[in-house]
Amino acid sequence: QPVATTLGEEQWGTVTAHFGGQVLVEARDGTRTRCHFRANLEQLVVGDRVLWHPPHSEGTGVVTAVEPRHSVLKRPDNYGNLKPVAANVDRLLVVFAPRPAPSSALLDRYLVAAELSGIEPVLVLNKTDLLDDGNRDHAEHICALYRHLGYQVITLSAHGDGHQLASLRAALADATSVFVGQSGVGKSSLVNAILPEAELPVGEISEMSGLGQHTTTTARLFHFPEGGHLIDSPGIREFGLWHIDEQELLHGYRELSERAGHCRFRNCTHRHEPGCALLEAAQDDAFIHERLNNYFQIADTLDDEARARY
Ligand code: GDP
Ligand code: ZN
Repeated sequence: QPVATTLGEEQWGTVTAHFGGQVLVEARDGTRTRCHFRANLEQLVVGDRVLWHPPHSEGTGVVTAVEPRHSVLKRPDNYGNLKPVAANVDRLLVVFAPRPAPSSALLDRYLVAAELSGIEPVLVLNKTDLLDDGNRDHAEHICALYRHLGYQVITLSAHGDGHQLASLRAALADATSVFVGQSGVGKSSLVNAILPEAELPVGEISEMSGLGQHTTTTARLFHFPEGGHLIDSPGIREFGLWHIDEQELLHGYRELSERAGHCRFRNCTHRHEPGCALLEAAQDDAFIHERLNNYFQIADTLDDEARARY
């Protein structure tokens, strides 16, 4: 094959962007090279660790193999099929704020999605400067709920000083992270506050503009000076629960799925059965009561098609 003779030595790299039939692969030294990939490979996404050959001179490299992913974020495409959008994400930063008013049912959706994807969720209460007598109790209740369940909760303001952002920076170091959360909670503001200017998306659009592809909505991988990475795009921030059934949903609730093994009936729906360990626990634990209610609320929205599989 004539192509192979023009390529450099095989090496490992990370996919930092994906557009049309090409990917941008970052080598160990930080340089990025446009690559084609072999047709037999599964769909490559940002975050994939790949084996690739750089071109000897001008031109594109070739990706020949992908390392198995330890986690995958998925979203439905225009036809409703679930498609991977990012790989090897370690941490999901679930952002909420006093305004727009937070709800634990909505936060649960992100947490469950993270748990089911094998990604560690971290909650981030942003806009603490907006806390007042009208919204403080509710925000503190939500923080207490998730801390009680064992999740890390960071509180800060994107408009605050560097000291405030330190806890967030610490949570992002040594991991590949993704920000999610309701529109308006301050995800862009946080990303802008912690990413060095050189890493901001603007600088890299020229890198891809020669390709004549739509690049605006595709995910990109950025680096933090502290050593962590960020995968970001408008689409990735909408990562959520797709095509799951009640059984899977329950697995996303750490403390509920643990207790469900103690229900009297194996096929307990946890809604009305006698001897239901979840209903019993909810009677004397307000946190469990709230989480169980959220579970019911989310379960009722799961599509019938997925439910019919069981
Ligand atoms: P996104 O939709 O989650 O990306 O939210 P944005 O980053 O666009 O922020 C939405 C609005 O909230 C903007 O007007 C921001 O200036 C504002 N905002 C973001 N963070 C803070 C904060 O810590 N305090 C205050 N007061 N406003 C904030
Ligand atoms: Zn039960």
